This record gives sequence, C-alpha cells and structure tokens, in this order.
Amino acid sequence: MVRTEVLKDIKLITEFLHSKYSNGFFIDLGKIVKDEGIYIYYDDYDNAFDGMLVIDEGDYHIHLNTTRGNYPNSSRSRFSLSHELGHYLIGRHHTDMLNGELKPHPSFLKNEQANIYEVEADHFAANLLMPESKFYNACGGRKLSWNLILDLSNKFGTSRLATLIRFSNIIRHELMIIGSQEGIVKWFLSSKDFPKMKHKFERGKKLPTEALANLNIVSISEIHEVDSDDWFVTWGGLSERQMYEQCYFAEAYNQTLTLLWFL
Ligand SMILES: [Zn+2]
Repeated sequence: MVRTEVLKDIKLITEFLHSKYSNGFFIDLGKIVKDEGIYIYYDDYDNAFDGMLVIDEGDYHIHLNTTRGNYPNSSRSRFSLSHELGHYLIGRHHTDMLNGELKPHPSFLKNEQANIYEVEADHFAANLLMPESKFYNACGGRKLSWNLILDLSNKFGTSRLATLIRFSNIIRHELMIIGSQEGIVKWFLSSKDFPKMKHKFERGKKLPTEALANLNIVSISEIHEVDSDDWFVTWGGLSERQMYEQCYFAEAYNQTLTLLWFL
C-alpha cells in the first residue's frame, strides 16, 4: 500500500513531469535528469542491484546495472531510473534520505515489493512512465491482447511485463501471465482480482496438455476461447465464464508468455 499523502505527491509530480517532458506518450527521462543535475552511470555491478541512488557531498548519483539489462534507454533501465527518481522526487523520500531514515539501498525490479519505500518508488515509476489518463488514451477502448500490450509498450518505452501490470491495475483486473520454456512453466503471476482457483500447473512442471504454448508459437498466436477447466480446478460457476488465451513468444528471453483472462 502507498501512503495517502505520498500517493497525492506522486500523482501531482508525475503529471507535471509528463506534461513538461513528454511529447505524447514517451517521456524523456534523460532531460529530467539533466535539468535536475543528477549524475547517471551505466556500469557492470554484477548482480548487486538494478538501480541505486547515492548522495555524496550534496550531489546526486544514480547507478544503473547493465549486467541486469539496465542499458541506456532499455525498457528495464527506464523503469529502474524512474524508481530512483521516485526516491529523489517524492518529498517524503527525499527528506527521509537526508535525515537517514531512508538509507542508500540496492533497488531491484520485483513483482512483489515488501518495503514501503520500494512499493512507493515503483508506483512512482509506473505513473511517471504510464500516467493513467495517457494510458486510457493510448488504449483507445481496444480490448486486451498481446498486440495491444506490445503497441503500448512501444508507445511508452516500457517492458511488456510493466505494461501488462499497469494494464491490469488501470483497465482490466482479471488476468494471469505464465512464462514457459519448451513446455515447462518457469514462473507465473496473476492480478489481485483474478479468481482464486486451484492451478493445474506449477513451476518447473509441464504446462497443461491443452495449453497453446505447447504449439510452436513463432510470434503471436490467435486469441483462443478456452475452457478454464483446462488450467484450473473450477467450482461455484467459475467454469461457466469464458476464459481467453493468447501466447507471445519473447525471443529475447526465449520464453513463451501465455496470457489468460476473463471478459
Ligand atoms: Zn529503491
């Protein structure tokens, strides 16, 4: 949860920055950093962090770790940089950094953050890169599909996953994503409102036999109407709702990403 006063701060700051530093959907983070006089370093820091903000004699330095994919302008580094800018620009964070309450820390890109400062900085990053009103406009009422997510991530310069999570928070809540490699489940995550059903799959084991990802998907599959019984143990009428499935082969990760959702 984001603290109420921080939430207000985040909304005000990110909307202002977007109006000043974007021409449409894509925000120019380099320009913000330059105007704020922050020093940026892209370097190999092993697996120590994605990003890290350090204050030294009144100067601000943001380190971005290329070993974890944070290259200049990569979608990952844009999120990591926005997260660190959150610590710098959220009033409460900045004050707490100066008084020692918020210590210099390695920030990691994670699906779930436990620390309140990290949750808030991630929320800042999502809002800075994809403000709610712009996100609505960019969607233009189009229905969920991988094509839409890819289009949005190109527009905003964000990763597929960050875009999908933003989509689930702003537009549609009931979705699940499953990453697999050669028919084996590598990871999965679902939005908060996805119906609680027992899975017929688990990490490290085979996908359900009927899964589209078992076929050789080269780029993006068609959208299929599927039976939720193929993936879940259903009860209480949940199986009567129509579930949809679409796969996208992410060449960079050599993984097939399966999207499951309800209308
Ligand atoms: Zn952080």
